[in-house]
Amino acid sequence: MKKLSLYIHIPVCTKKCYYCDFYSESSYSELIAPYIHALSYEWELVSHQFNLCDAIVDTIYIGGGTPSLLPEKLWNILVRELFARLNHSNTMEWSIECNPDSFTSEKAYMYAQSGVNRLTFGIQSLFDEELKLLGRIHTVKRALDVLNDKSLEKFDSIGADLMYGIPDQTVKSFSESLQTLLSSSYLKHLSAYELIIEPATQLGRIQKKLSFPDEEAVIEMVGELLDKTGRYGFNRYEISNFAKSGFNCRHNEIYWEHEPYIGLGASAHSYIHPYRWSNSRDIREYITMMNKGELPLDEKERINSDTLAREMVFLGFRRCCGLNENLFEIKTGKNFIEWAGFEKIEKFIKMGIINYQKPWYRLSESGFLIADAVAREFF
Ligand code: SF4
Repeated sequence: MKKLSLYIHIPVCTKKCYYCDFYSESSYSELIAPYIHALSYEWELVSHQFNLCDAIVDTIYIGGGTPSLLPEKLWNILVRELFARLNHSNTMEWSIECNPDSFTSEKAYMYAQSGVNRLTFGIQSLFDEELKLLGRIHTVKRALDVLNDKSLEKFDSIGADLMYGIPDQTVKSFSESLQTLLSSSYLKHLSAYELIIEPATQLGRIQKKLSFPDEEAVIEMVGELLDKTGRYGFNRYEISNFAKSGFNCRHNEIYWEHEPYIGLGASAHSYIHPYRWSNSRDIREYITMMNKGELPLDEKERINSDTLAREMVFLGFRRCCGLNENLFEIKTGKNFIEWAGFEKIEKFIKMGIINYQKPWYRLSESGFLIADAVAREFF
């Protein structure tokens, strides 16, 4: 039996955040109901085409957009038409992304009853001025009420996303947001990302008028992140991800390990070796294709062993466990040292950027600060 992970994309948001360049529709759109029905048609098509009807689903991740905006009626349709028909492992990890503004205790109980065992909240900051600057619609009070909601005890794991490098953010304000978040008794997982400004977003258009923390301040924020997560018992397992012991996000690890996954919905990506493909980004086109019984394919790429090798280096160097040379050889058919170049590896080891402990090559803490640049040296 094949093991498989499923990603389900729910492209609805109440309002566009100022930094976001993901595709999403208004939550009031009349397209959402047909879209939810179409997700199960897509699974029917894709599972037959790739011979996955008896696959055992080991992780499900419902992301967006804002999946917690789905009303009870549509959630029940999704569960009845899609999830209730899947074969899944007894230990399946099932996550759903929630935003504080659309989360309710009633929805939490509904998710728990369906089998969801992991919630993750887009908190981003615990300062109202920073949230406003980002265009988030929740307040700090709302975020804290949600993080202390008793319904959260129904789940195995609660996660949160936090941002640094926000305009006008200080090391002190980031540190306070972080400390408050880590003090939450339910929290088991933290994703902390630097704000990246995309030109086509609202922040991108006014970027020159904004005042961003300088490089020194950002490095201090990362220092605070490492220090405080360590003190609160969160282990870093990837460059931006921290978890209490036993609470790593398995779904993320599937992506990083190049294991098979199917993404359902507009703009979702799938990977069944050697192919990776993405769906049409447009929800209308997606529904039309489903109505015609055609897969909503946008782009398809054959991943050859060189591309796979580069991706394994890029992702492996972002993980604290590092890159496993044995796995590299099994997946790519290449010997890592021969492929990467002995001299280059030796240079990084001497500089204290890469550590080697058979069979793992991992970046040191100083290496993590330049992880992408180190990976690029091998491309
Ligand atoms: S809620 Fe998430 S997906 Fe929606 S606009 Fe904001 S950042 Fe983008």
